[in-house]
Amino acid sequence: MRKPLIAGNWKMYKSNAEAVELVRELAPLVTGLKDAEVAVCPPFTALSDVSRLLSDLGAEISLGAQDVYPEKEGAFTGEISPLMLKALDVAYVIAGHSERREIIGEDDEFIAAKLRAVLDAGMTPILCVGETLQEREAGGAAAKVEGQLEACLKGADGGEIAGMVIAYEPIWAIGTGKTATPDDAQDMCSFIRRWISGAYGEDAAAAVRVLYGGSVKPDNAAELMAMEDVDGALVGGASLKAADFAAIANFGR
Ligand code: PEP
Repeated sequence: MRKPLIAGNWKMYKSNAEAVELVRELAPLVTGLKDAEVAVCPPFTALSDVSRLLSDLGAEISLGAQDVYPEKEGAFTGEISPLMLKALDVAYVIAGHSERREIIGEDDEFIAAKLRAVLDAGMTPILCVGETLQEREAGGAAAKVEGQLEACLKGADGGEIAGMVIAYEPIWAIGTGKTATPDDAQDMCSFIRRWISGAYGEDAAAAVRVLYGGSVKPDNAAELMAMEDVDGALVGGASLKAADFAAIANFGR
């Protein structure tokens, strides 16, 4: 049985003090959830204090990072290693977010290296995949996602993939207010699961959590989370307000 994951990607929002404040507000609102696991991914600058606070509060919130550099240590100015994240009790690491692919220029090969590094450090990658509006309109959405899966997962085995999280995030739905319909989200999440089954076996496909991300809000969470192959959500904008994010973690209830 896959436990849905509701993960908040705070992007480049929230100073350290603001991040701590948000966690203080959020923690009581998501205590005792039975149907979902909750994670927050603050900016690197807030990870240390948020990690300590989560532990002090005994909060039922996992800690995630938004990115990582795929080396243990070295002369990589400005970068953060998997071991540094692990030392802060980070459980999840986002890799391949479309903003990093499109704005920073990260390619599938680099993302595959990040997945390897995250797995080797004992954390869980959240691999983001998704198509542009142009690709969808040209009928190429599945081919785009398949290509990303093939290239980014090629260094992992079925057992590792079983424990991973894959987030289907259509680029046209991120931060735009345009959400994929529940059927569109289901179609692609189910396509991803079938692809994993074909490439890595049924056990991996049955266990891997496939999230939907793209303008998830309290009022559309329930219908998205009701879809059979949607195992949670990666939430950007709406994760910056404790009440909204908690409502999503409660599937809009
Ligand atoms: C995201 O950045 O992963 C995301 C889904 O953003 P938003 O919820 O704001 O569309």
